[in-house]
Amino acid sequence: MKYILALDQGTTSSRALLFDDKAQIKKTAQKEFRQIYPQEGWVEHHAWDIWNSQISVAREVIEESGIDLQDISAIGITNQRETTILWDKKTGDPIYHAIVWQCRRSASYVEELKKRGLEDFLRERTGLVPDAYFSATKILWLFDHVKGLRERAEAGEIAFGTVDSWIMWNLSRGQIHATDVTNASRTMLFNLEKLDWDQEILDLLDIPREILPRIEDSSGHFGFTHPEVFGGARIPITGVAGDQQAALFGQLCFEESMAKNTYGTGCFLLMNTGSRPVIKKSGLVATVAWKIGEEVLYALEGSIFNGGAAIQWLRDEMKLIADAPSSEEAALEVEDSGVVVVPAFTGLGAPYWDMYARGGIFGITRGTKRQHVIRATLEAIAFQSQDVLELMEKDSGIKLKSLFVDGGASANNFLMQFQADLLDMEIIRPENLESTALGAAFLAGLGVGLWKDKEELKNLKTEDRIFLPQKDQSWRQEKINLWRRAVERTLQWEEE
Ligand code: ADP
Repeated sequence: MKYILALDQGTTSSRALLFDDKAQIKKTAQKEFRQIYPQEGWVEHHAWDIWNSQISVAREVIEESGIDLQDISAIGITNQRETTILWDKKTGDPIYHAIVWQCRRSASYVEELKKRGLEDFLRERTGLVPDAYFSATKILWLFDHVKGLRERAEAGEIAFGTVDSWIMWNLSRGQIHATDVTNASRTMLFNLEKLDWDQEILDLLDIPREILPRIEDSSGHFGFTHPEVFGGARIPITGVAGDQQAALFGQLCFEESMAKNTYGTGCFLLMNTGSRPVIKKSGLVATVAWKIGEEVLYALEGSIFNGGAAIQWLRDEMKLIADAPSSEEAALEVEDSGVVVVPAFTGLGAPYWDMYARGGIFGITRGTKRQHVIRATLEAIAFQSQDVLELMEKDSGIKLKSLFVDGGASANNFLMQFQADLLDMEIIRPENLESTALGAAFLAGLGVGLWKDKEELKNLKTEDRIFLPQKDQSWRQEKINLWRRAVERTLQWEEE
């Protein structure tokens, strides 16, 4: 039996999963690590915490499964995206904490870029809406706040990497300084069409090219682990992708018009748009889905700030449910939601883009019960997903056929059925909800030749549960109208 070791380096924990050659999970291990919040809106990780937690879970699954190191064909890596690490190329020491994707510290740099009139230019080149999320302005902030850093960077002493690069650097003891196209496409320094660092952007932002990793396909040969890392073995690293792209791949959304939605704390929607990036001004971002050999696929991406977070709110603040899964039972205790909940806790994203919106519960009567509020909160997750998917269809001109789902809240059957009804589309939920790690394993397995091609991967997929739409058009339209009326009333609640 041969195995693929998938490393899933997430925002709050590092995970390792050992997949066998039938793509079945043999062993998993997970370790949380410190979140550092130096001030309001800032988020950091200790770069060594990222590495130490990741390597410890990797060793744990190998040891506990009792397999021979020789039987690990390859390693696949998937990771929290955009998070920025700079380190000394000689010593391998990080220069500063990792600046996490959520961190807003470089927002003023984004404003500056917009003032310089670069917004449209950056969007056209990178597919991204300029934002502090992406790595570029995090690098600029570090240059301005760490003494002597810029000079050292210009002298070629400094390496930049997203988390995939940091993990590979350490797995190889400094032999590999690389990233893959999907991670590169989240830096705001990457030319989406040329599939390379964009020299003009680097010049405009004054970022020395010397710090950047080389860019590889998502599936291919990145290099080997150093023998000291895993008891003498040299294991090839043959698959790398950012977490959302890995999930799209793990869900086998190989063809144009296939899309996945990950229902976690927030929701992340990605739609395969085929061989061309869709770059529009609607606020969705275009990104590389993956590159394997000559095949390059792009995706449209949209996110919802408050997905499962709204269920946490029901549990922790409203105390309406004891735990997240019990929201399903409560929702089914009433015939209809009766009310509309708009969980615009921190404003609304696509397609409304109103940071001043705040949440509301609409249509309350003397008969409104807790179950109504719970049901309506679950429905709100589906409504928001519907809004984003509709925008994706509009931007791309592509009609979605089905939606593949994963993430914690996709376990909720009521939510999935409501989503199917609302979209008038089948919802496909795999038995194994670990799409992200599976995607990394698939990419690595293809890269090392354990699996021949994408066709073979389709045969490895485990059984799905399919939710079929059961409602008619007038039901749908009525629901959507009601939702939009409620959203309307939450807009611009806070004053600018
Ligand atoms: P993340 O990766 O963002 O931490 P997960 O994929 O682990 O998220 O999903 C956790 C989220 O899903 C939480 O916000 C939780 O409230 C929600 N959740 C988990 N199970 C259910 C369920 N059965 N019904 C509704 N929401 C759920």
